[in-house]
Amino acid sequence: MEGIRLSSNFDELINLKQSFPEKASETTTINFKLLELYCLYQITSILSEKIDISAATRVAKRIFQKTFPIDHYSFFLIDDKGQDIYLKSWFGFRRNQNSPKKYALDENIFGAALQKGRPIYIKNLQKRSARFKFYPEVRNRAGSFLCLPLISDSSNEPVGAINLYRKETDGFSVQEIRLFQKLSQQIARVIDKVLIYQHTRELSITDDLTQIANRRYFNQRFDREMQRSQRYNRALSILMIDIDYFKSYNDSHGHLKGDEVLREVAKILERSLRKADIVARFGGEEFVVLLPEIDKEHAQNVGEKLRAAVASHAFPHGESQPLGKVTISIGLASYPEDATIADTLLETADRMLYLAKSLGRNQVSFISDQNGSGNQPKRSLKFSQASSR
Ligand code: GH3
Ligand code: MG
Ligand code: MG
Repeated sequence: MEGIRLSSNFDELINLKQSFPEKASETTTINFKLLELYCLYQITSILSEKIDISAATRVAKRIFQKTFPIDHYSFFLIDDKGQDIYLKSWFGFRRNQNSPKKYALDENIFGAALQKGRPIYIKNLQKRSARFKFYPEVRNRAGSFLCLPLISDSSNEPVGAINLYRKETDGFSVQEIRLFQKLSQQIARVIDKVLIYQHTRELSITDDLTQIANRRYFNQRFDREMQRSQRYNRALSILMIDIDYFKSYNDSHGHLKGDEVLREVAKILERSLRKADIVARFGGEEFVVLLPEIDKEHAQNVGEKLRAAVASHAFPHGESQPLGKVTISIGLASYPEDATIADTLLETADRMLYLAKSLGRNQVSFISDQNGSGNQPKRSLKFSQASSR
């Protein structure tokens, strides 16, 4: 039990136990039971912390590192497609530079343990069967090796594996293996929950078709960014974007080809923006871009860059569009010039978008303050249309 950091409740339990001398075998049983409770408690506590995979793997590593004398520990996770397994965290060895990052499931010990659904224990690595491939860090060593499969008990799907290595031959007792099996089951349960949680979160903020953020995510971020801008007196610009004559594209080439265009436009927008900018599908063939700390003047350049990027992209059947290519119209509004509250800023951008449409499409519109202030549009800027059409 040395080296274990226990919470105060566990300290009390251990003190209590020590005041009752027992036979050595019973002491061991109680120690193991305590150890098990302690570890299970630690693992389950992940779910009340910040829920992410790295936090979960950190806790698993901490338990094995602080609580048990293990020479090598490695934690492998299965990738999204369920085909490969990759090293996520480890201790006790230096990762070999040439070590592959991923391993195929069917060719090594993890696969076998996952298929069996129980741990595989190799008492003496030097006498192991040639059936299993080993990763370079333990391949040529003596000692013992325990592979613990991590299988979700809700879906019965493999989630990963934990490998433990000790320098001694037959270094793991039956009692320990049983304990590690219980711990690995609990770790699998927790990892599975974390994965489900992450997946659900991703689904709820991502647009299915284009894989960029959806309107719900945009709304959350918009509120937050607006508050930040108000508090710190920083600029904030938004661009409302709508594909021109998109109905005509669908009518001529079908909805599926139309979907391709939507995906492509989303990619172009994402590629043309900085990391700090937020692009979301607002609905249908409309997108919205949030430009934190970008003032109106610079936002005009961003809008023009996006317009030009789409207009110059070779979309399939682009030439059949009324303007001879697939284009977008953009309405721009900026805080604080155009509005000081979120709803009004969005409405202004939308109004500017319709102005861009009415002035011929494939352009960026905004309220110009050159002709005096006020919220009536005085001018719509047409950028280099002669050369871009
Ligand atoms: P405008 O230049 O005035 O914007 O003309 P428009 O044809 O783009 O505008 P309109 O609002 O008349 O048509 C929008 C079209 O977008 C109609 C709708 O079928 C299509 N659309 C909306 N969502 C999707 C989608 O998810 N996939 C596809 N393929 N089409 C969509
Ligand atoms: Mg529209
Ligand atoms: Mg449209």
